Amino acid sequence: MRISVFGLGYVGCVSAACLAGQGHEVIGVDVNQVKVDLVNDGKAPVVEEGIGELVADVVRSGALRATTDVREAIAGSEVSLICVGTPSEPNGSLCTTYLERVTEQIGAALAERGGRHTVVFRSTMLPGTCLNLLVPILEKSVGGTAGVDVGVAVNPEFLREGTSVRDFFDPPKTVIGELDTASGDVVAALYEGLPGEVFRVPIPTAEAIKYADNAFHGLKIGFANELGAVCQALGVDSHQVMDVFLADRKLNISPAYLRPGFAFGGSCLPKDLRSLVHAAQRADISVPILSHVLPSNADHLQRAVEMVERTGRRKVGLFGLSFKPGTDDLRESPLVELAERLFGKGYDLRIHDANVSLSRLLGANREYIENRLPHLAQLLADSVEEVLDHAEVCLVGTKDPAVLSALPHGGDGPLIVDLIRLPDAEARRAEPGYMGLAW
Ligand code: NAD
Repeated sequence: MRISVFGLGYVGCVSAACLAGQGHEVIGVDVNQVKVDLVNDGKAPVVEEGIGELVADVVRSGALRATTDVREAIAGSEVSLICVGTPSEPNGSLCTTYLERVTEQIGAALAERGGRHTVVFRSTMLPGTCLNLLVPILEKSVGGTAGVDVGVAVNPEFLREGTSVRDFFDPPKTVIGELDTASGDVVAALYEGLPGEVFRVPIPTAEAIKYADNAFHGLKIGFANELGAVCQALGVDSHQVMDVFLADRKLNISPAYLRPGFAFGGSCLPKDLRSLVHAAQRADISVPILSHVLPSNADHLQRAVEMVERTGRRKVGLFGLSFKPGTDDLRESPLVELAERLFGKGYDLRIHDANVSLSRLLGANREYIENRLPHLAQLLADSVEEVLDHAEVCLVGTKDPAVLSALPHGGDGPLIVDLIRLPDAEARRAEPGYMGLAW
């Protein structure tokens, strides 16, 4: 199939490269010239396991290219995947500005081109957004009827950053919200041959499923971290507790997101919980459980700040800055928040994150760092050693092997505050100068 992918961020870049790898002819579209140039140079605009090699391969073979020109992309494709961002507005509601703009642009290009085309929304959006907001925009700009002149579907994305390429080829499920059967058939054909059950549902159901997923992930992390903190205070190993809890086959609970560790963050869970709670409040529905997931997460982050304060040391090293290991994504990263709180309290901080440094070097996240985090940019160290030499206390929020192998043992060197329960936490627990956040 000939496919346009709008938005070359984490979802769009991975979708575009993986579909190109599946034999489709893909053209990526982004308003950001840096991302378009990177892709055309065979480089991924995001740091993710396996994505660099895949983009290089599919660009070399001619299966993937990128442009800023919407008309060019629409003229050469029969299906468009919309992967633009839907961030939070300041009041917690969902920002649909990018979705509205891209829908209008695609509609205008389709009006010129003529012929059947299917528009597939992958961005996360609240139930009702597609049918009540985007379909009318599309119909107006195309000058036709959705489901007749232009196909429409919603196909939410369930990738986890850090393992998104693997997740694309082994999805937990495929959800197709279809306006009409022909539109749903187009989406089903895109993923033909991939494992996992396919669910064809009405469009608002598809939109809501994504919120069920993300709200539950946040709830599980909050539950595990609160339990971890209580266990620690009572002298119990919470990971041992969870091991046994999860081994109960009759409960059949997935262990994902249920291991006490650090606070959650990123561009999805916080903003999706926020917009779900905002939508509930607007509908006058009381949601006390969902409303307290983010405050619970904030309390967990505060526990890490207090651990540092209790050490009485002022020179702090932080390993990891992206919102979780294995990605360069800094959006709503709890490690950024932790760094900012410590920086604000006057701690002498140095930070190392290999993925963030690589992305900065490539130019992919340079603008984000310079515009949003200039105060932290000056604290970024190129090497692990630089941070270790500086620090009296080291916070570890990454499983980067270069960091793990360099961390000292046995109280020899800085104190270690393990935020994520390192693979050798069990052995380190007996060592002086080692502290775990919540277990
Ligand atoms: P992102 O911010 O990384 O990427 C969005 C891209 O869209 C940017 O590169 C931006 O320049 C581009 N863009 C904006 N307007 C455009 C336009 N008119 N034409 C072309 N490109 C345009 O976002 P993301 O993290 O990939 O998320 C995209 C959507 O997918 C969001 O709705 C998000 O909630 C959802 N989602 C994200 C993840 C994730 O792990 N990041 C997982 C599942 C779902």
